[in-house]
Amino acid sequence: MTNTIKVQLLHNLLDEVSGRYDYLYDANRNALEKIQYSASHDTLTGLANRVAFEENLERSISAAKRHGDIGAVLFMDLDNFKQVNDTIGHEEGDQLLCDVANKIKPQLREEDFFARFGGDEFVILIERISDDVDRAMMVTLDICEKILKCAKHSYYVGGHTFFVTASIGAVLFGSEEMAIQGDLIRHADVAMYEAKKRGKDQVVFFEEAIETRLNEQVLIENKVRLALESESLVLHYQPKVNREGMVIGLEALVRIREDDGSLIYPDRFITLCEERNLIVSLSEKVLMEVCNTLKSWENDDRLALIDIAVNISPVWLSQPTFIENVEIILRESGADPHRLLFEITESIELTDIQNKMVVIERCANLGIRFSLDDFGTGYSSLAYIKELPLYEIKIDRSLIVQCGENMAGEKSENHNRFIRAIIVMSKSLGLIVTIEGIDTSTAAKALWEMGCDVIQGYFYSKPIDQKAVEVFILENHLQIPTNNKTSESDFIK
Ligand code: C2E
Ligand code: MG
Ligand code: MG
Repeated sequence: MTNTIKVQLLHNLLDEVSGRYDYLYDANRNALEKIQYSASHDTLTGLANRVAFEENLERSISAAKRHGDIGAVLFMDLDNFKQVNDTIGHEEGDQLLCDVANKIKPQLREEDFFARFGGDEFVILIERISDDVDRAMMVTLDICEKILKCAKHSYYVGGHTFFVTASIGAVLFGSEEMAIQGDLIRHADVAMYEAKKRGKDQVVFFEEAIETRLNEQVLIENKVRLALESESLVLHYQPKVNREGMVIGLEALVRIREDDGSLIYPDRFITLCEERNLIVSLSEKVLMEVCNTLKSWENDDRLALIDIAVNISPVWLSQPTFIENVEIILRESGADPHRLLFEITESIELTDIQNKMVVIERCANLGIRFSLDDFGTGYSSLAYIKELPLYEIKIDRSLIVQCGENMAGEKSENHNRFIRAIIVMSKSLGLIVTIEGIDTSTAAKALWEMGCDVIQGYFYSKPIDQKAVEVFILENHLQIPTNNKTSESDFIK
């Protein structure tokens, strides 16, 4: 081999080695870049992920404090996205998420930081909005509204068209007194939940009060859970009085007794129980106790005539196990279902009326009667009265507070005519008309005169415990008000 050939061969070898080295270097660099990319990006949408967002936020907060600028964190969540996933499956759901992200991205400035935290949760960091809080808030609101308007759209995926809206929680940062980083994302999240609660498709700015309420809800939820396992769930009974002044029935009202003996009222925990899957356990406990009370009164001539009404949550009523639960409780307690009334409200959706009708009719076949509670607070749809096999209609306190002394002159006369018309209509449909929430003799007198059948209210008695209500039924003789009786103390002797 000549020297020239040797040199040529050496060159070739070096070229090959360096080519391989370049290749290996590129491959390594690509792999490294890929790792770096996936550590900071969301693989589905290509947006930044939570890690990158948090890093960026930290840097952004320090910068905002240094420059005296105010920025904002927006937490956005699609409304009812779970339904989309459940209808078309996850793959198509993913497509919809990408479509939404692609629609929103052009609405933001180059320097805004848009990230996806997972699921249908998107977060946006907006820097240097203004050095004035009010102005920053206005601008943030405008941005949020632009985003909401843009997200609100129908999307065609998986052969279905979905109408999508979103909810946004917003929080500002920058000035000294504003939240520290650890809290910012959580606060924006809390505000987003509030936006959902207020009806979705809107923006809510974080306020301390929202968090305080949320904390209170967690506290109450724990109390309910504890009460369900202990004796601290108590029932009070409120008497219902007929035109002869006789107690003909009671409404069972649930409370939680605190360690110090004070009571937590249902307005603070029923909706929460419905949201947190606690309503079935709570309702079963209440119904069981009512049935045990009815059973224990069976051999008493007077108490055996008393009906007890139980409030039935629409969430419990729509459970497939509802009727089974009721049958089991009736069987175990041995109570007579003919003494039971189930109070349902207008909030039960008429859309699902066929299924509800089947359940309601099965209960009616057992002998349970139905009462339409809080009439006048919802849509007061006459369809309920027409469709449901009702026994009683309970006109809500809010409709009658204006009766009697609270209004004067023609306005009062008009209102009274309106109530009278409801009473006449209900009675002509064969319904018992009960007025609830009567707490003055004037209102009671006015409503007896208008022809209602039953009155329930503080005027006769507040809700009281079982022992007290037994005494009330057995020892009190009530009289219905007449024109010459005006003193409240006259009525309960
Ligand atoms: P509701 O069924 O309309 O019950 C009547 C409410 O009005 C009761 O409040 C009662 O104490 C109150 N009330 C009665 N008379 C008067 C009056 O003269 N003046 C005033 N200001 N209020 C009066 P409570 O016990 O706080 O119950 C509130 C609501 O909680 C009930 O409204 C019912 O919807 C719900 N609830 C109560 N117990 C249960 C239960 O066991 N299960 C379910 N699902 N809901 C329940
Ligand atoms: Mg009720
Ligand atoms: Mg009511």
